[in-house]
Amino acid sequence: MKTAAFDPVLTCWICDATTLMPVHELVFELSAYDVQDAELAAYTGSRLTLCRCARCGFAQPAALPALPRYFDRMYDQRWSDDWIRGEFEADYKDGIFTEILASLARRLGPSRRKLLDVGAHAGRFVSLAQRAGWAAEGLELNPKTAAYAARRTGATIRQLNVQDVRVGDGGYDAIALTDVLEHIPDPVRVLLRTAALLAPGGWVAVKVPCGPSQLLKENWRGRILRRYRPTIADNLVHVSHFSPASLRQALERAGFVDIDVGPAAPELPASPGLRGALSRALRRSVHYAARLVPGALHTPLTLNLQAYGRRPAERATECRVC
Ligand SMILES: [Zn+2]
Repeated sequence: MKTAAFDPVLTCWICDATTLMPVHELVFELSAYDVQDAELAAYTGSRLTLCRCARCGFAQPAALPALPRYFDRMYDQRWSDDWIRGEFEADYKDGIFTEILASLARRLGPSRRKLLDVGAHAGRFVSLAQRAGWAAEGLELNPKTAAYAARRTGATIRQLNVQDVRVGDGGYDAIALTDVLEHIPDPVRVLLRTAALLAPGGWVAVKVPCGPSQLLKENWRGRILRRYRPTIADNLVHVSHFSPASLRQALERAGFVDIDVGPAAPELPASPGLRGALSRALRRSVHYAARLVPGALHTPLTLNLQAYGRRPAERATECRVC
């Protein structure tokens, strides 16, 4: 069996700084792939350091698996039909989705409603967008969820990476990346392609976990609960960990303007009983506090980030004076 190899990552993916401080140790547990993909499963038991950039606050792994197409292979999950249908019908993310659609609609004129959902999953967001009057399309790499989303929504759902969408196919008024960028190494590359696919004056909506708050939450959980190991990046499922400042900087580097970074609406899982109701009430309360308390964006009250950025109507040109 081949040994699991890694390629070091020496500079910050957002700001190119080289002072990267260790903040967490992540582990690989991929034995579920023993039969499906033995080379991928060989990473089981490996460990990596997650490092935070001293300049911009972004966190990323100290190395990446050298295995070709590691991320595509890890996400080649053979989900059941019932699970995919459940994901389409579940409403736990609807608060996030409706807030994104309303914010995009406010920023665009009423005649601009051409939308692309990157990482369309089972199609829930595309479906809600259609009901709100958008002409929505999606990108989804998993063949089963892509086919399901297309069937349930009637929308065009392409089984493509955003990097592989031709710019000539773009001209979108809005592009949503909800819970996508944290799964992708070198996220500025994806934002650059997103900007190229937008029509001039179009808007991007990006939702990601807030890296520092999530790590703090996990570390506290590890202190309170016996035998609990904090996990925020095992298997590199989350590979890009944004702070508010680094998310802003990533959007700036991709050429976006009028950038707004704030707390994202929470997921509200439909857990039963009093415990579920209390959990949802707590999540809503923390979110309202994060929105209302001045400076809360940079505190543990903000567990997830929602950002918007506009592609300039004209491409920036060099200053002729300086
Ligand atoms: Zn940095």
